Amino acid sequence: MKIAIYPGSFDPITSGHLNIIRRAANIFDKLIVCVMVNCAKSPLFTRDERVELIRRVIGDLPNVEVDSSDELLAEYAKRKGSCVIVKGLRAGSDFENEFQMALINHKINPSLDTMFLTAEHQYMYLSSSTVKELGNYNVDLSDFLPEQIIPDFKQRITSK
Ligand code: ADP
Repeated sequence: MKIAIYPGSFDPITSGHLNIIRRAANIFDKLIVCVMVNCAKSPLFTRDERVELIRRVIGDLPNVEVDSSDELLAEYAKRKGSCVIVKGLRAGSDFENEFQMALINHKINPSLDTMFLTAEHQYMYLSSSTVKELGNYNVDLSDFLPEQIIPDFKQRITSK
């Protein structure tokens, strides 16, 4: 069984993330979406909330599992029996950083490869941080966030 890991902060999950999840779930037998805890960032949603928001929007995808971890990604993948990391690539600006991370992960765990899926053109400039910026204004978010999470997002951003 081919198991892939899709790691990220998902603070919160956007329509761009969801698009990558759907496409990767079509390619692999099982996809584990893993909320990686990054001490450098102070998130809008807690780790458990982010997991719950992702679970809410992937309900129709039976081969997708949601998890969270503060382990090193290369070790997490080994523990889960996965040899593929899936990443989304937006504009060229993602490339340098992602290329470096892919090389490092492969060095730490040589059986681990990273596969990149290019972002759909309508999500090319979409990131969780852009959505958080827009959330401070009265903007329709339905092109950016899955419908099921918009009320939670608006409530959190206004109470922050
Ligand atoms: P963000 O940059 O939005 O905070 P994450 O740290 O959660 O996102 O990123 C997790 C993964 O999802 C990364 O591989 C990132 O390149 C990818 N990704 C993020 N936004 C998009 C998008 N709009 N389209 C495709 N891939 C994306």
